[in-house]
Amino acid sequence: MNGNNDIKRIALFGSTGSIGVQALEVIAAHPDQFSAEVLTAHGNDELLVKQARQFNPNIVVIGDEKKYGKVKEALASTDIKVFCGDKALEEVAGMDCYDMMLAGIVGYAGLKPTLKAVQTGKAIALANKETLVVAGDIVMEMAVEKRVPIIPVDSEHSAIFQCLVGETRNKIEKVILTASGGPFLGKKPNFLVNVKREHALQHPNWSMGAKISIDSATLMNKGLEMIEAKWLFNLQPDQIQVQVHPQSIIHSMVQFEDGSIKAQMGLPDMKLPIQYAMAFPHRLQNDFPRYDFRKISSLTFEEPDLRTFRNLSLAMEALEKGGNLPCILNAANEIAVYAFLKNRIGFLDMTDVIEKTMSKVAFIAKPTLEEYFESDGEARTFAADIIKL
Ligand code: NAD
Ligand code: MG
Repeated sequence: MNGNNDIKRIALFGSTGSIGVQALEVIAAHPDQFSAEVLTAHGNDELLVKQARQFNPNIVVIGDEKKYGKVKEALASTDIKVFCGDKALEEVAGMDCYDMMLAGIVGYAGLKPTLKAVQTGKAIALANKETLVVAGDIVMEMAVEKRVPIIPVDSEHSAIFQCLVGETRNKIEKVILTASGGPFLGKKPNFLVNVKREHALQHPNWSMGAKISIDSATLMNKGLEMIEAKWLFNLQPDQIQVQVHPQSIIHSMVQFEDGSIKAQMGLPDMKLPIQYAMAFPHRLQNDFPRYDFRKISSLTFEEPDLRTFRNLSLAMEALEKGGNLPCILNAANEIAVYAFLKNRIGFLDMTDVIEKTMSKVAFIAKPTLEEYFESDGEARTFAADIIKL
């Protein structure tokens, strides 16, 4: 909270994305609680300008430098400051004009601004799971040092976080991450080999950005989330279990030492975890649709098919070995997903690209931040080479 009133000033990094847009809806519904002080986008200048006109932030940043002139001109009649480029993203993340960062950039690009925010003592509402996958040890150590809360937005981690409220002294036996199974639940490789972009982008329960939609279809998303859970909740790999739950009503569970299991439930709607992270420790009234036990009467559970969805096994291997392997996995996955989205490779080829890259880039058991950056770069170059991008 800032000094002069109780309004929490939010910096929305990635305001034009699926998470960013929903976070702005939450802010618009609670003007007495939140203000949007910073908005950032990579390429969507039109939406960024529209959002800026509506929310009147202090600062906007457009990542794509070619679009700077357009944004500057469109906002010339306002007193909103306009910046551009990756450096500006980091600089603005370090400024004192806001209280909490909503980290909603997708992929590795979110790491540096988020680190800067932690370094300068801002609370983090974390959607960008890749930040923890790439350099979770460094981010979490810095958060402890700076006494910065990192509150998860990812629905599974928000569920676990909510289950842990009031349990600080109680040991976790394990967490159970639920997975919808994605659009290809129950399918086998002979089906997946022919899957196209449009099909893979259709998620049964959630509407999300393109990258996470593909990650959900390959189950890589659940692998990234296992790694995210390890860092957020200080868990050992064997304490993290994945359970497929196609209805996406139970968002995840925690089992304690006495065997008791707590679950957090609700209809799948990202606005709830976004709002929870922004308002924590409070819960705010809202009019989101409610789950009704009389309407969806059966909740089912099954094991993930690791033989078909091999990305999840690769992520489990990275989780187990640690070091820079999750960073390598993440970089190769980003290259593979974007190549698939451009119809350059097939659905199952993504797994091959990641597997080969993981075996090629040198393993480092305890990397420095600089070494994480280097591993990311090497992995990208190697993965792009395989695909011949
Ligand atoms: P999205 O693709 O819809 O939006 C991404 C945002 O990041 C956009 O504002 C875009 O302008 C910005 N961006 C993209 N590339 C950038 C770059 N190189 N530099 C700076 N900004 C860049 O993505 P999303 O679905 O909103 O997901 C955002 C993050 O939240 C991801 O890490 C995702 O895993 C996580 N997440 C999303 C959901 C969801 O429901 N969408 C759920 C859980 C977690
Ligand atoms: Mg999730």
